[in-house]
Amino acid sequence: MQETKNRTIAYAVLTLIAMGGLLWLSTKNRAVTVDGGFRITMGTVARILVVAQNQPQADAAIDAAFDKIYDIERLMSDYDPNSQLSLVNREAFEHPVPVDAELFEVLTAAKLYSCTSGGAFDVTIGPVVQLWRKAKDDNTAPTPEAIAKAKETAGYENLVLDADNKTVTFKKEGMFLDLGGIAKGYAIDKAVEVLRSAGMQGAMVDIGGDLRCFGTPANGKKHWFIGLQDPQNEEEILLKLNMDDRAVATSGDYRRFVMIDDEKHSHIINPATADSAQDLSSVTILAPTAMAADALATAVTVMGDEKGLKLIETIDSTEAILISHGDETSFEKTSGVDKYTDYD
Ligand code: ADP
Ligand code: MG
Repeated sequence: MQETKNRTIAYAVLTLIAMGGLLWLSTKNRAVTVDGGFRITMGTVARILVVAQNQPQADAAIDAAFDKIYDIERLMSDYDPNSQLSLVNREAFEHPVPVDAELFEVLTAAKLYSCTSGGAFDVTIGPVVQLWRKAKDDNTAPTPEAIAKAKETAGYENLVLDADNKTVTFKKEGMFLDLGGIAKGYAIDKAVEVLRSAGMQGAMVDIGGDLRCFGTPANGKKHWFIGLQDPQNEEEILLKLNMDDRAVATSGDYRRFVMIDDEKHSHIINPATADSAQDLSSVTILAPTAMAADALATAVTVMGDEKGLKLIETIDSTEAILISHGDETSFEKTSGVDKYTDYD
């Protein structure tokens, strides 16, 4: 009798342990999706979404990723006179300026994209960008003389990067670096690194519409995806793109432009003419990293559809979607885009 009772108790305890174990396993495997909300950075709005084991871990990781983005902004802003980039801009013609590893990394990549794009992307385009920004404030287009002078100062071949000493030197007086076409992408990639090392199962980092996703999709969905808007009709989705472990960036004058004398000027400059690039209304690049997507979107905007598409076809795992001006929205894309519009 006593033995039966003992056995019953033993079974009950075992069952409880087993149930507890199952419960523990199920909470362990259950993931929560946490939205960090909108935060202002790099002259735009950023948002981070993570898939994590629990809320406190997610919150801490999101804060750490934003701290990284703020660090990069402090280092690379050309608006902030105290940024390291501003120091380089003031002193690099006089002497080699030592910089942090991260700034050096972006500048090295920027120079590479300048070469790849035949100078369409040019991180030394700063004097021309400044000229057009001032023109917007004054509502007067710059004079041809001023444009010629600014153009004379630009040229990525005059940017000297010493990899051993991590210093930056300018070969020409008046040079001025502008990381507006690449820093956002770099910041996204660095935020992704922080989230990965904090053990996040998945995440999306979005700065001003350029974004990168990795790992487990949000809210138990099968994939990360984005809808590409029609620039002429924001309600209309042109393409739904699979974003699993990918980055996307869009450059274009439909959202950001400069009005001078009722004329629309893109904030993207064609270094060859020192005028604004006006061929396309929107260029979207899909790439493994956000930095590549960001820089190449700017480059292709300058290069135009024919040369731009040709360039992107030569780059591995990288695709372009070009949306042209006109009454009707029309778009062109590289041959591999269809891989990312297919859903199972
Ligand atoms: P957005 O800022 O709208 O995402 P981009 O990534 O294309 O667009 O970046 C545009 C910024 O890049 C400009 O505001 C300017 O600071 C800088 N820029 C403009 N023209 C060029 C160029 N040809 N090469 C590199 N950077 C550029
Ligand atoms: Mg860009």
